[in-house]
Amino acid sequence: MSDHYSALGVTRDASADEIKKAYRKLARELHPDVNPDPASAEKFKSVTTAYEVLSDPQKRQSYDMGGDPFSQFGGGGANFGFGDIMDAFFGGGGSRGPRSRMRAGQDALIRIEVDLAEACFGVERDFEVETAIACGKCHATGCADGAKPATCDICKGRGEVQQVTRSIIGQVMTSRPCNNCQGYGSVITDPCVECAGDGRVRSRKTIPIKIPAGVETGNRIQMSGAGEVGPGGGPAGDLYVEIIETPHDFLVRDGNDLHISIAIPMTAAALGTKVKIETLDGEQEVAIRPGFASGQTVVLKDLGMTKLRGHGRGDLVVHVEVTTPSKLNKEQEELLKSLAKSRGETGEQVLIHRREGSHQGGLFGRVRDAFGR
Ligand SMILES: [Zn+2]
Ligand SMILES: [Zn+2]
Repeated sequence: MSDHYSALGVTRDASADEIKKAYRKLARELHPDVNPDPASAEKFKSVTTAYEVLSDPQKRQSYDMGGDPFSQFGGGGANFGFGDIMDAFFGGGGSRGPRSRMRAGQDALIRIEVDLAEACFGVERDFEVETAIACGKCHATGCADGAKPATCDICKGRGEVQQVTRSIIGQVMTSRPCNNCQGYGSVITDPCVECAGDGRVRSRKTIPIKIPAGVETGNRIQMSGAGEVGPGGGPAGDLYVEIIETPHDFLVRDGNDLHISIAIPMTAAALGTKVKIETLDGEQEVAIRPGFASGQTVVLKDLGMTKLRGHGRGDLVVHVEVTTPSKLNKEQEELLKSLAKSRGETGEQVLIHRREGSHQGGLFGRVRDAFGR
């Protein structure tokens, strides 16, 4: 990573004011409108990136701690405003004058599908996006090789023209943006053939995107400066990556926990057994103790989803359904009859449960019942 402090020529303990002053001074020297030298355009970009980081207290802190402020999850905090650049050129304070050809680029949003395992463990993938990038032929100036925008004949570079209007209160002097130059104060007489004067071109570019462990549908990852480059070499907007989690075949997510439903035969539930299930962490053994009732659960600790905030993982809850055999052959029927006889279960005793509430049906209702008495 480049050293943002040396790019701006300030010390690491520079105040916010010193950083702003240093950026203004450099931006005036290096901006492509002022300085068509390609090397300056490159330097302008790195200076702008440095300012974008160091002018934002959160990003600066993250940068000081060795982090990459462009890969922060979620983002937030004050964003670098394009007004800062306008201030740098026009001294701020609402002064009028020709508008800059440079404008901030637009934010972009892409949606990315991840499967459950990728959402749990995180994934790094290269994505191809169509976006606007700075025109390499004219170095974002919009002018054909070597040319510079010519001062507008109509407004003499002011970007606006004055107009006298007669009204009932007398003559009123108004100013409006110059039509000849669209308010830029200059006209590109010899536009770059590649970008037709816009300073940028459409292009497909590959962006490596790091999806952190624990994301879920609707989460957005903000990648500062990875959006569209602005016209005239303006700073790029941000790229937002929205996560869409695709459903898993048999694992159901509920926040940080995962749920799985399995069925075991009545005999196995009575005698106890060990079954193997497929999880995000490969095959795992689930111990079913003897006398297991249908609807009870076994909790496998820390085999759920990675917690996006905080650390550790949720649990994997195994919901066990006990299946009753529906077709018995003669031998099996006799065996069950003798079992019933041995247990004194004639089938005439009935135990009626009093139900609390009306949570009938549904997996969780049944789970609650199983523990509720
Ligand atoms: Zn161009
Ligand atoms: Zn003009």
